[in-house]
Amino acid sequence: MEEIRADGITKRFGDVTALRNVSLEIAPGELFFLLGGSGCGKTTLLRCIAGLEIPTEGKVFFGDRDVTDLPTHKREAAMVFQSYALWPHMTVGQNIAFGLEERKVEKKEIQRRVEEALEMVKLDGLAKRGIDQMSGGQQQRVSLARALVVRPKCLLLDEPLSNLDAQLRLEMRSEIRRIVKENDLTGVYVTHDQSEALSMADRMAVMDEGVIVQVGPPEVIYRQPVTSYVAGFIGETNLLRGTAREGNQVEIPGATLVATPGVEGFQPATGSPVILSIRPEAIEIVNPTQATLAGKIIERIYLGSLIQYAVKLDDGTVMQVTEQNPQIIRSPGENRVGLKVATEDVTLLER
Ligand code: ATP
Repeated sequence: MEEIRADGITKRFGDVTALRNVSLEIAPGELFFLLGGSGCGKTTLLRCIAGLEIPTEGKVFFGDRDVTDLPTHKREAAMVFQSYALWPHMTVGQNIAFGLEERKVEKKEIQRRVEEALEMVKLDGLAKRGIDQMSGGQQQRVSLARALVVRPKCLLLDEPLSNLDAQLRLEMRSEIRRIVKENDLTGVYVTHDQSEALSMADRMAVMDEGVIVQVGPPEVIYRQPVTSYVAGFIGETNLLRGTAREGNQVEIPGATLVATPGVEGFQPATGSPVILSIRPEAIEIVNPTQATLAGKIIERIYLGSLIQYAVKLDDGTVMQVTEQNPQIIRSPGENRVGLKVATEDVTLLER
């Protein structure tokens, strides 16, 4: 368990700047996620932390140690890859033992630690199996065991579940979190999958074009996004363009809504362009006389536990609305419906 700190990291590949002056502190024992669109720099940041890339500028610290120029195996960090990177012609045990043999650990000790690592990932007794006799999910457990066997302080994971089917991915989410917590590891995890991050992370960083846009626990990133990029990236949302008026009021075509600033203290000048973010589940369908927004249902998707509507407002904007445990099933058509949303669920963002 060790603190990981990135201090002013810039990474350039020729003309491409993958990271721009990125600073980040990850607390000991934390499971921290790097999230963002394709090409935003998350893998490059993880690889700089792992020692697989050397930053062009800036430093990486593990606790008090400056590890910027240390090779991976001297950082006491282990990496798990999307591709598993196992040796197909070796047994499970041989794959896991490999790192210890390289470190010249004594044979008996290797055997003991391989068994211990297999227990951690719930594959006890399978050391003698061939890799090709293991399922995809089991192979990812083997690659986790191989990372854990060197007793790292930090576990670095690069999209570790991308190659698994949907059901296994769900199971492995809690498994990986358990492994990180039970072994007192500091975990850094890169993913495209926002639901993976929301369900597993202690905190996360959302990145865009080589910079970190927001850092926080999942509920803060979801409920108080600081930009429309973050709001749109984490979860579904409706983004409405409007114009700032007095006292957090925002004028949108055909209505004026009262909003809550995404960043505390954000007070746009009257008349300036802003964006409103409204989550589909924060909207209630009511009688049109009881709401400031109104329109017609143009689409309905019934999913049992919830129902999704697309509602076209009078100005043509389409709003997504989700109702949990729906009691009334409304049909698309000519009837007008009102959309009600509480002030705290209308997030005011800079445009
Ligand atoms: P993805 O989710 O698609 O894997 P990412 O957020 O992990 O994306 P990176 O792989 O970190 O993004 O890449 C960031 C930028 O740096 C991209 O523009 C990418 O093309 C570039 N890049 C990354 N590695 C190299 C390299 N070895 N040589 C040249 N350019 C690179």
